[in-house]
Amino acid sequence: MAKSWSEKKITSILSSRDHQILDELLDAADRCRRKSVGPKVFLRGLIEFSNECRCNCFYCGIRNGNLSILRYRLPNNEIIALAMSAFDAGYSSLALQSGESDDPQKINEVVQFVQAIKAQSLARDNTGQGLGITLSIGELTFDQYKALWEAGAHRYLLRIEASDPRLFSQIHPPGQSYEKRLHCLDALKTIGYQVGTGIMVGLPGQSIENLVRDLQFFVERDIDMLGMGPYIPHPNTPLYMKQVPDYDPFIMTLKIIALARLMMPDINIVCSTALQTINPRGLELGLKAGANIVMPVLTPENYRSSYSLYADKNYTRPLKLIEQIRGYGYEVELRTWGDSRHYAARQAQK
Ligand code: SAM
Repeated sequence: MAKSWSEKKITSILSSRDHQILDELLDAADRCRRKSVGPKVFLRGLIEFSNECRCNCFYCGIRNGNLSILRYRLPNNEIIALAMSAFDAGYSSLALQSGESDDPQKINEVVQFVQAIKAQSLARDNTGQGLGITLSIGELTFDQYKALWEAGAHRYLLRIEASDPRLFSQIHPPGQSYEKRLHCLDALKTIGYQVGTGIMVGLPGQSIENLVRDLQFFVERDIDMLGMGPYIPHPNTPLYMKQVPDYDPFIMTLKIIALARLMMPDINIVCSTALQTINPRGLELGLKAGANIVMPVLTPENYRSSYSLYADKNYTRPLKLIEQIRGYGYEVELRTWGDSRHYAARQAQK
């Protein structure tokens, strides 16, 4: 259930440089998270199965126009084998991510591997659930989203990146439209997915007002999941060297996560790799701010450096991550999917 917060209150928290206010905010968010979603952290084994992308987002290292990276697409049998070894290692949920493609053949391949992962994991699972599957493969047609849902995916992450249409158009080329993204988020919800969105924090041209509006956008769209992180400049992108706002993107991301947890107590919130990359305390403080989902990277080592969305992307071995999460006082839950409680509440109201 979303709690209403005044614009004035959110603005004053985001604008404050007082450490005590930050500490109090993180404490309140941690208390709220323990009460609403509990002390558990759920894992999604992340497989970045392709860096091929038709888009030219001005911030992204795998943008089509970046000719200095090696492009890859894992064959279906490798993706299925990776998924099944994750299942055998104890993961109950995966996040499958890639650049964006509008080639029907490529989307069909995704449908096929999602179906195979679902069927093979169900055959080995005595709980009758099989692997939980989150997809994050960008803007597709309604029918493609539907086919992927029918194949067995049930959560979808599609960040709005910036909820202000003006800022959105400053960080994307003209062919990529804000309306289309909204339309995709609507389609996903209509089909029945648990829908996640998010933004990057610290984008050139992003004001505190924009961030206040972003939080209101998440509430208005009644989202189930949030995945966001600091914007980290990538040298081979048009936004590189563009002046960034004068607030600290790390602290600001923590504040946005904490406010999101307080405003939307029962959603799932990802502690992003970008947050862990930008500051060595990213995991610890992201969890404290209210994040309850961590996505250990399971992409094979030889492809990892080609999935370079931003500079110096963090990689922590999954077992080390689990140890760290426990060390910060949270429980790691591997057996259950850890679906968004907000989604369950939304379904119950139907
Ligand atoms: N193609 C899918 C999509 O667009 O939703 C998924 C892959 S996309 C690369 C995943 C996310 O990476 C984007 O939503 C964006 O927020 C994030 N990202 C890209 N470039 C980034 C950067 N320079 N700093 C931080 N995050 C970045």
